[in-house]
Amino acid sequence: MVFLDHDGLLDCNEAALRMLGLASPEIVLGRRLDDFAPTLQPHEQSTREYVTAHVEAALADGQSRFECQLKCSDGSLFVADIRLHRIQIGGGQVAHAVLRDITVRWENEQRLRTLKDAIQASLHTLTYIDGVTQLPNRESFHEQANQAINRAIEISRPVAMASVAINDLSNINNSLGHDAGNTVLQEVARRLSATIHESDIVARVSGNVFGILFDGCTEECAEHSARDLLAAMAPVIRVGDHEINVGVAIGLSLFGRDGRDLWDLLQNSETAMYRAKAAGTDTYQFFSGEMYTIALERLVLESRMRHALEHHEFVVHYQPLVSTVDERIVGTEALVRWQHPELGLIGPDRFIPLAEQSGLIIPLGEWVLVTACRQMRVWRDAGLPSIELSVNLSPRQFHKPNLVEMVAKALSVSGLEPKLLVLELTEGALMDHTDATLNTLGELRAMGVRLAVDDFGTGYSSLTYLKRFPLNKLKVDRSFVQDIANSPDGVVIAQAIVDLGRNLRLEVVAEGIETIGELDALRSYGCEFLQGFYFSRPVPAADFEVLLRAQSDAP
Ligand code: C2E
Ligand code: MG
Ligand code: MG
Repeated sequence: MVFLDHDGLLDCNEAALRMLGLASPEIVLGRRLDDFAPTLQPHEQSTREYVTAHVEAALADGQSRFECQLKCSDGSLFVADIRLHRIQIGGGQVAHAVLRDITVRWENEQRLRTLKDAIQASLHTLTYIDGVTQLPNRESFHEQANQAINRAIEISRPVAMASVAINDLSNINNSLGHDAGNTVLQEVARRLSATIHESDIVARVSGNVFGILFDGCTEECAEHSARDLLAAMAPVIRVGDHEINVGVAIGLSLFGRDGRDLWDLLQNSETAMYRAKAAGTDTYQFFSGEMYTIALERLVLESRMRHALEHHEFVVHYQPLVSTVDERIVGTEALVRWQHPELGLIGPDRFIPLAEQSGLIIPLGEWVLVTACRQMRVWRDAGLPSIELSVNLSPRQFHKPNLVEMVAKALSVSGLEPKLLVLELTEGALMDHTDATLNTLGELRAMGVRLAVDDFGTGYSSLTYLKRFPLNKLKVDRSFVQDIANSPDGVVIAQAIVDLGRNLRLEVVAEGIETIGELDALRSYGCEFLQGFYFSRPVPAADFEVLLRAQSDAP
């Protein structure tokens, strides 16, 4: 127990002396309570100010309570719970303090607090920090970016969003291992962080994508920043003995113009990023409204196409191939169309490229092949003359490892003779992976299937493959036929292509014959087969059957 007033200690009891390690009550007289305490309390406050404030409060208000670290004369520290009460002694007021040693409880509380802080911190790390790069993760980015956007709205400050994708990260992971991939991620994260300003936010938002919010950034500033980021990515990254050139694609969106909230900004910068990626590595692209429409249309179209395949909305039309000599039908090309319930008949140029990109061409192409082979069988069984069937193969189908099996299966389920099937390949498909290509072509030929180069002259125009690969046919692209009428050069070129094919002992087919003039020209160059609207457009199976029947009935 201790008595004290504004000026200091007045008296104390035995227990207080023991607590403070003092010999007699005289020692405390005229001293202040904080003389028996360290200068600073554990919470860093000055002990004198802290104690004075409570004593003053007790004297003014009647009571006060606080915890205070005190120092025993042997130098050991302890914590006391101090309750102060104002009492009247003679004419004056003094404070009566009861001190209780609570060191053990206090230390336990302290330990608990530290533990709680540590748990809190690691929980925060788990929830908000990306383990590989130590950057904020997606959740944290959303939270921070949202706050920054809201602040920017309040003071009408510009904001820009960037999505930065590392190209080929999965290749690096697959070929050099995940540690190498992580090293690349860490180095990219470091470079990004070093390039942006302090007020900007960078985070890893998904496997290979980083998000950056540029605070106070206009279009020019965003463009500038994108260039800086690209420059920062230019030096190679060393991983063990390897030097890796990391390419990045950057998509940018601007607050206001491209979106008025985080979600729009993020989505649009990502759309722009995919565009940048498609345009080649190491480039940036601003979002544009047109991209949105394209992205949306694609998405809708792609899912509609899957639906269409399941719901049998695709149909195959047939266009005759005729012999130049007598203009009789010697073959037919299967051309797919989409019979859309609302939009009507959609041509392949509008959906084949997307099917190729999305991989849907694999089931679609197989369906076309099987359908057309079966159709041929139906006509043969109906006693119609047997003709050749041409089916287009897209590059993706051609490079699929089980192509040969797929073709063999189509032939066996339909019972079509292999020699009546011609597979049309584009120059593009033939240019890649030449050894694998040679094998595939060899296997197809071994089955008895015949092979044609479609749209000849529009692709890589490297002629070496014509000699190297076991091809049977060359289809001269329609554009050369059109050029015949346009210029004398056109005549020379068309003639040269036909000659080239004939000299390589390939059958030559000219595509896109629309007029009798074109027919006569091609005939005079010695082209053996023709195809075009002049003879017939691609037509449904039933109409093609009519053409075929008319021909077989004719003398
Ligand atoms: P392609 O294989 O070169 O097919 C010939 C295209 O030329 C067809 O267009 C045909 O309708 C058109 N054509 C034929 N004669 C004339 C003519 O006299 N004048 C004009 N202006 N055009 C003519 P279509 O049916 O629109 O097909 C376009 C392309 O789509 C095809 O070009 C082919 O590359 C692709 N395609 C069509 N069906 C399939 C398929 O089942 N699988 C794959 N992978 N591609 C296909
Ligand atoms: Mg074709
Ligand atoms: Mg063609």
